[in-house]
Amino acid sequence: MIHKTRLFTPGPTPLLPAAQFAMAAADIHHRTPEFRALFQKVLAQLKVFVGTQNDVLLLSCSGTGAMEASVSNLTSPGDRVLVLTAGKFGERWTDLAKAFGCQVDVVEKPYGQTFDLAEVKAALKPEHKAIFMQASETSTAVTHDVEGVAKLVKGTGTLLVVDGITGLGTQTFDVDGWGVDVLIGGSQKALMIPPGLAYLSVSEKAWAAMETSKNPRYYFDLRKERKNQVKGETAYTPAVALVAGMGASLDYIAGQAGGDLEKGRIALIDNAQVNAKATRAGLVALGFTLFAPTSPSAAATAVLVPEGKDSSDVVKELKARFSLVVANGQGTMKGKIFRVAHLGFFDYLDTVAFMGAIEHIARDVLGLPVVYGQGVAAAQEVYAKAAKN
Ligand SMILES: *Cc1c(COP(=O)(O)O)cnc(C)c1O
Repeated sequence: MIHKTRLFTPGPTPLLPAAQFAMAAADIHHRTPEFRALFQKVLAQLKVFVGTQNDVLLLSCSGTGAMEASVSNLTSPGDRVLVLTAGKFGERWTDLAKAFGCQVDVVEKPYGQTFDLAEVKAALKPEHKAIFMQASETSTAVTHDVEGVAKLVKGTGTLLVVDGITGLGTQTFDVDGWGVDVLIGGSQKALMIPPGLAYLSVSEKAWAAMETSKNPRYYFDLRKERKNQVKGETAYTPAVALVAGMGASLDYIAGQAGGDLEKGRIALIDNAQVNAKATRAGLVALGFTLFAPTSPSAAATAVLVPEGKDSSDVVKELKARFSLVVANGQGTMKGKIFRVAHLGFFDYLDTVAFMGAIEHIARDVLGLPVVYGQGVAAAQEVYAKAAKN
């Protein structure tokens, strides 16, 4: 039988064909009116996609580059910062802040869990320059309560910096209402294009903090980028083809709601949430245990394999038998969980395809007592109910 490759990983995610065509056709120079027009259009669309009046900047780097830019531009050596960490990406904030000489306090939760707001409140001190967190911790497939944390930070001098790299396009943010100072996204997640671009919204409070922050920065000097980007320019050569692809992707998202990007964004979020819920229901019906049952992410679902089994075999067999690619656990979670994505260019029928495939693997590789159709049916029930509303 033939195999069709299906990417079910939470970054990179499946590519939108219209974006692939736009990238292939993007042989334009970046110091031309054509590029400036494209770049300004994409920056304006990103503001709608993020849902903010703040500046949104586009950087040619993967998501971590924008995380680093947030640390280097907002802090000075010796600053005290607070990191909320419950997974590999939370740990990245700690590593970054330490690399730039910050004194790092942490609120830490075990993998698979989220934070207790009372604990965050107790840990947050007036001397904290910034608080760093994830909206969606992709390594454990957990959603964190950005709104709840924002309420604690509001009115204080502390900056709220959120890695929304898999949160954007899967959950709703009121960036300006809540007071999120920096919100970071990446191209290879909900925006359906390859890795290589990161974007971030920056509040006036954050711009003001950059006036006195002393950490070194050069390529990721956000003040320099801001000066250029208001003119449709970038400080250095941008990833031109990816910018063209991102424009096509944002057009597609708007096109899903009659050309209204704000409504298209909401439809994209609903899509991820319904597919995530259907996947969770299907997996539970098959006898799987969810790794993060209490605050699951809509970007991806993390699933435990039964005791004595290895999730690497699930990853391997899905690939070998169906060319279906899911992600293993990271770090100490490797071999214990696998992760299946819902963010970006996935639709309901992709979820049905995944459920069909995992039923075979659950039965043949994990020895679960699966009746064919059991997982698919549970997913269909969720979809049918959501479609009715
Ligand atoms: C993908 C991802 C990142 C960025 O990783 P890069 O490899 O630098 O693109 C950061 N945070 C989260 C939550 C992610 O999912």
